[in-house]
Amino acid sequence: MSKLSEQIIPEKQINDLMELKPTQSKIDEILNNALNLKGLSVEETAYLLNIDDDETLDKLFKAAKTVKEKIYGKRIVLFSPLYVSNYCTNNCLYCGFRYDNKDIIRRKLTVDEVVQEAQKIVNMGHKRILLVAGEDKNAVNLDYIEEIIQKMYELKIMNGEVRRININIAPLSIEEFKRLKSFNIGTYQSFQETYHEETYKKMHPTGLKANYEYRVKTMDRALQAGLNDVGAGVLFGLTDYRFEVLALLSHAQHLDKKYGTGPHTISVPRIEPASGSEISEKPPFAIDDKTFKKIIAILRISVPYTGIILTTRETSKFRREGLELGISQVSAGSKTNPGGYSEDNSTEQFTVGDHRSLDEVIKELSESGYLPSFCTSCYRLGRVGKDFMDLAKPGLIQRFCQPNALVTFREYLDDYASPETKNVGLNAISRYLEGINDEKLLHKVKSMLSRVENGERDIYS
Ligand code: SAM
Ligand code: SF4
Repeated sequence: MSKLSEQIIPEKQINDLMELKPTQSKIDEILNNALNLKGLSVEETAYLLNIDDDETLDKLFKAAKTVKEKIYGKRIVLFSPLYVSNYCTNNCLYCGFRYDNKDIIRRKLTVDEVVQEAQKIVNMGHKRILLVAGEDKNAVNLDYIEEIIQKMYELKIMNGEVRRININIAPLSIEEFKRLKSFNIGTYQSFQETYHEETYKKMHPTGLKANYEYRVKTMDRALQAGLNDVGAGVLFGLTDYRFEVLALLSHAQHLDKKYGTGPHTISVPRIEPASGSEISEKPPFAIDDKTFKKIIAILRISVPYTGIILTTRETSKFRREGLELGISQVSAGSKTNPGGYSEDNSTEQFTVGDHRSLDEVIKELSESGYLPSFCTSCYRLGRVGKDFMDLAKPGLIQRFCQPNALVTFREYLDDYASPETKNVGLNAISRYLEGINDEKLLHKVKSMLSRVENGERDIYS
């Protein structure tokens, strides 16, 4: 019996598929299939990854845009990371937090400091926090995680509060995941970084993360422990992107088949320069913007039901382009060092590419026809895991998402927006309402919006 990691990521098969050369008719057939919103096979995806001319790329981008709009409409979900500790016992060659980097100031936030950071994030207008930490079980253990989560959920500042906490911390055992679930978390996120075993071993020379098999099986353990939503990802730039996309897709399909739910989100970080990391200055398989756009578009149509996250690692210009092709969640106003929201001098994990405030991001999204959303409704109503996927797969989630997005957007505009952004945002809401043809839905949305206008908060369906 082969290792489970080999069953999840069949390396030889993926290497063979990478050689498939597409013909124009094959590409047309695959892009046509994609419009059924059923996703693509690993083989079909392999053909798309070998597209290299602008005209065919353009066709791919158009298909991705159509798929995205059918499933997600114009809605873009916003969140903010909260880094609680940069202590790390691992030595990932690309990361500023790695153990051997003696140039950084190490810091773990106290519970009060975490609450202070969360207050800053809430005061920007965010409702979703992604809690992030380096891997050091002495610094960050589950008792600490439990306490800070509880304190953050208790926060109430005027109309502001934290409604969903997602987590990106080191992989846990099944027993530990069971405990994490009891903290009422949203998505548990962990990136494989690279699915290519040999590259993985080179990039993670020491520490707990050096164990490839354990990392690959993280999502299996999380789902076996009963967690509802897991988030996968690849750190692009470590090996051939075609291998990574096909392996990521194999991983998603394995989870879907075995547990009835694929990853709730996929993150697509590209390596950014990080303190004391030579590899991050010159990644071995650096991805240019055009290729990165191709990757996003292909992921969008291969796993249409999964949210794709793009963070402030990327510049505002690239983020605009990514939204067109399939990105459905973005961070905004982010700091990637513990204590960063309360002014601090500890080192960032990597260089941030988009320094705009949340208000600026919201204004631009509204002006570009997108609908910023702070919705956390599915998770709070128990529409998670398989239940969420069953709705998301046929595109039905929009019926819930659009009203909830409009309502939470209106909350933001009333409570946090600058006068200029509020003006642009209210116009955007009017345009949205004009676009709703279903009378019943329109009535429901209008009544929810007028309740918000009259001061009610946290209305969702
Ligand atoms: N320490 C945990 C881990 O490694 O899984 C979780 C937190 S880690 C701070 C979050 C993610 O940051 C990593 O999974 C990695 O993909 C990403 N990252 C690390 N170095 C980076 C860099 N130089 N540029 C962009 N992303 C990076
Ligand atoms: Fe530590 Fe995570 Fe950075 Fe690796 S990526 S050095 S595990 S914080």
